[in-house]
Amino acid sequence: DAGLEKTKTSFFNQLSKAVVGKSTVDEAVLDDLEALLVHADVGIDTTVKVIERIEQRVARDKYVGTNDLDRILREEIAALLEDNNTGSTAVLERGDAARGAGPFVIMVVGVNGVGKTTTIGKLAHRFHSAGKKVVLGAADTFRAAAVDQLIIWGQRVGVPVVSHGMNTDPASVAYDAVRKGVELGADVVIIDTAGRLHNKVNLMNELTKIKRVMQKVIPDAPHEVLLVLDGSTGQNAFLQAKEFTRATEVTALAITKLDGTAKGGVVIGISDQFSIPVRYIGVGEKMTDLQLFDKHTYVNSLFS
Ligand code: GDP
Repeated sequence: DAGLEKTKTSFFNQLSKAVVGKSTVDEAVLDDLEALLVHADVGIDTTVKVIERIEQRVARDKYVGTNDLDRILREEIAALLEDNNTGSTAVLERGDAARGAGPFVIMVVGVNGVGKTTTIGKLAHRFHSAGKKVVLGAADTFRAAAVDQLIIWGQRVGVPVVSHGMNTDPASVAYDAVRKGVELGADVVIIDTAGRLHNKVNLMNELTKIKRVMQKVIPDAPHEVLLVLDGSTGQNAFLQAKEFTRATEVTALAITKLDGTAKGGVVIGISDQFSIPVRYIGVGEKMTDLQLFDKHTYVNSLFS
């Protein structure tokens, strides 16, 4: 998997080296493992959990032969990652025909700079090229650049963007975008939102208001609240996950910039700590550099 090359070579290969072929799991092996996991931004709590689970398995299974530790580690890491095959966008991705009542609404949240706009563009491309009708809503009205960029993405992908310009009411943009989606018979409406974090109450109020107005059009919207996090920012990504899960009900994660980091462990730690499935990973700046996350593929690619 080309996109995750850096994560693989810089971290997980070392991890493999630390465990592959080890026939005894002694203090030293576990210490190495712990150091590597922490270094890869898995986070201390999840790291401790992984080490404890391995200790328990080793104690239970008594004998750990060559490559067993490698297998156990893969299994335990996969077990920590939330399953991704249930929930809303997963249904959309499978193309289940059961949904018939209007467009599927994705509200995208996250702080500036994490790759929110790019991820929305990539998602629009993904759904559009799968033959789905997509409408975008530029409700990050706080930054002029955000509105402009979304419009450019809309043109690039070939999907309509509902925008009222900068400094307009985000809820009103969201409302119009969802209405436009219904009007056009769209399959997916993706709403960008402002990610200012310096005022928690503001953020919460704004997201609540955006949800409330879109529910006037589609009562069970949004069907997915997708939090975008920059996978190369380690502890910052953890802090942002904490703030956003407090401000609104986040249902899925998109982790970006995993192509540019040696520390892909953030995927494991955040999914575990917040019990939220990782739905997509960003592995580059191009339209096509977005992958549907599959935990087994991910774990195996890291060790191969
Ligand atoms: P926003 O402020 O959160 O909307 O961030 P943008 O979408 O404008 O992205 C910020 C920068 O990160 C841009 O230069 C993007 O091209 C870049 N970017 C976004 N996603 C990825 C990714 O998965 N990999 C890499 N390498 N760059 C990315």
